Amino acid sequence: METADVAVVGAGVVGLSTAYWLAKAGAKVVVLDKGKAAWEASGRASGYLSLRGETPIEARVAAEAERIWNTLDDELGYVTEWCPKGRLWAAFPYEWEDMQATYAAFCKTDFPFRLIDGKEARELLPYLSETVVGGIHTTHGGHANPQRTAQAFAWAGRDRGVVIMENSPVLSITTSGGAITGLKTPGGEISTPRIVNCAGPQAGMIAEMIGGYVPVAAARLEAMVSAPLPPMFTFAMIGNGVSVRQTHRGNLHFNGGPHEWIDVDLTSEPEKPTTPIIRNAARRVAELLPSAANAPLLRCWGGVIDLTPDHSIVLDKVDGPEGMFVALTSGHGFGLSPAIGKAMAELTLTGESSIPIKELGLSRFAKLPRDWRKQFRWDAGNCNT
Ligand SMILES: Cc1cc2nc3c(=O)[nH]c(=O)nc-3n(C[C@H](O)[C@H](O)[C@H](O)COP(=O)(O)OP(=O)(O)OC[C@H]3O[C@@H](n4cnc5c(N)ncnc54)[C@H](O)[C@@H]3O)c2cc1C
Repeated sequence: METADVAVVGAGVVGLSTAYWLAKAGAKVVVLDKGKAAWEASGRASGYLSLRGETPIEARVAAEAERIWNTLDDELGYVTEWCPKGRLWAAFPYEWEDMQATYAAFCKTDFPFRLIDGKEARELLPYLSETVVGGIHTTHGGHANPQRTAQAFAWAGRDRGVVIMENSPVLSITTSGGAITGLKTPGGEISTPRIVNCAGPQAGMIAEMIGGYVPVAAARLEAMVSAPLPPMFTFAMIGNGVSVRQTHRGNLHFNGGPHEWIDVDLTSEPEKPTTPIIRNAARRVAELLPSAANAPLLRCWGGVIDLTPDHSIVLDKVDGPEGMFVALTSGHGFGLSPAIGKAMAELTLTGESSIPIKELGLSRFAKLPRDWRKQFRWDAGNCNT
């Protein structure tokens, strides 16, 4: 029987980052995934570090993530394509009032944000539509290549002894005397006293295996990438309802549109078709960057994210038999993954983290009714717009 100091459930970028930091601290780690590593949300993300200006309880995790990103390629020994060129929020007239309210919220964090007018926005990005009336700019934050980042964490973890077991769904967890003793997959049992639950949309089901409760919903969203274009901008950008970045090779990589709430199960791959809605996202990019209007589109895809009731991440211990910890990312876990993994590794091994995560615990949902998804209209078949 395989034994591990810690088993990580889920080989997305958060599970792989957690495994890396655990192994760096000297733990013997096994990562299990029901499918292939980074095949779900982590390999389908757009690639931004969100600074979490709108949710200050997460902003310190974002600040730590940025600090780690700035030396991550050296830390791991592999390339992530991290591009630390800041971020621009561009507003069309219909977005300007909300943008000013957003700016007021952003100012509650330590990151320096500037409210700028349309002229300055176009000085930063001459290709920007003449209709843009202003925006928010920061030199902090950036973007990276999600697939290469997950691969970098996987390879760097393996270099430190992490065992990654693909096609190994976790089906049940064994306990004895009020503590976790292991977990079961179709291929056999793994003996371990600690489990880090990084199963994304399935994290609630993994917690239920020990009688724990983790409120999480699943949603499908869509993204697209253009053929490479000449260099236009290096920062990450948001505007007109889409997030856009230009990759190292010149592709415009963007996502936008509604979240479709879906149900997931424990072992199969969730369906994630693309729909004609993706054309709407492409039109929005063309309105924002008119000179990109005729860019050939290479491919589009869907992805499934986990979302928490208050849209903020969860990093905590799970109630029940001793030994389970959980990380939920609420749709913005890619950028935060270097810091989330470090925090989870510290929490799992020592019971606390050097990164401030106390406000990110499960206790904030203590009064949440169990039928919250229905009450929020987040049950399968509904969309948020
Ligand atoms: C289109 C799109 C754009 C996005 N853009 C951004 C962005 O720009 N910036 C950002 O920060 N975030 C972005 N995100 C969100 C980001 O991708 C996620 O927050 C992040 O990838 C979550 O990582 P994770 O490892 O927690 O989860 P996942 O990548 O979902 O990984 C969970 C893993 O758990 C596995 N699993 C589930 N059940 C079991 C089981 N029973 N046994 C074993 N394994 C199991 C799954 O197979 C999966 O591989 C985007 C997401 C999408 C879809």
